[in-house]
Amino acid sequence: MDIIVATKNKGKIKEIKKILGDHNVMSQAEIGVNIDVEENGSTFAENAMIKAEAVSKYTDCAVIADDSGIEVDALDGAPGIYSARYCGEEATDEDRVVKLLEEVENADNRGAQFNCAIALILSNGEKHTFSGIVRGTLDFEPKGANGFGYDPIFIPDGYDRTFGELDSSIKDDISHRAKALKALAEFLNK
Ligand code: IMP
Repeated sequence: MDIIVATKNKGKIKEIKKILGDHNVMSQAEIGVNIDVEENGSTFAENAMIKAEAVSKYTDCAVIADDSGIEVDALDGAPGIYSARYCGEEATDEDRVVKLLEEVENADNRGAQFNCAIALILSNGEKHTFSGIVRGTLDFEPKGANGFGYDPIFIPDGYDRTFGELDSSIKDDISHRAKALKALAEFLNK
């Protein structure tokens, strides 16, 4: 199936293309859609659907969108849906990692999870959402250059290295995004 991904995030596009390898996945840029969408929903699922709906206006193909973020136990689930905007609009991934490490400096509980919602709009207009979570702990300093965002400080449960250090094939198997996309793929294969 031809599927357009409503995102400009190159890290997400790379992972989604690999995990949905059975489908012809194209980014919004590849079909010439260059829009920024205001994410004013109050959940990952709402924000994912807002992004999918915006891009769906420009194509007859199926559209998917990912909204995701990190939820830190000691911060009552923050930054959550604000993960990309944590630290201001102009900040880099590195700035956000530094800020988060400062916020949890004195926390006894370093538990955290990545949460991902994938919204799907089929070419007949049908809408669905899928979700995935991966639990882990926050490391004390950034390690590794794989992945993107908060990957260098996130150690998934069952491993002793960060997503930044682990081979990308492991993240593509166990991540929040992998789980949500596997649910989507199962749905599409039905
Ligand atoms: P969104 O584009 O609003 O969904 O922003 C998601 C933000 O959450 C990203 O910019 C990252 O900071 C963070 N994030 C989401 N998924 C991941 C991941 O797989 N690894 C690391 N950071 C992630």
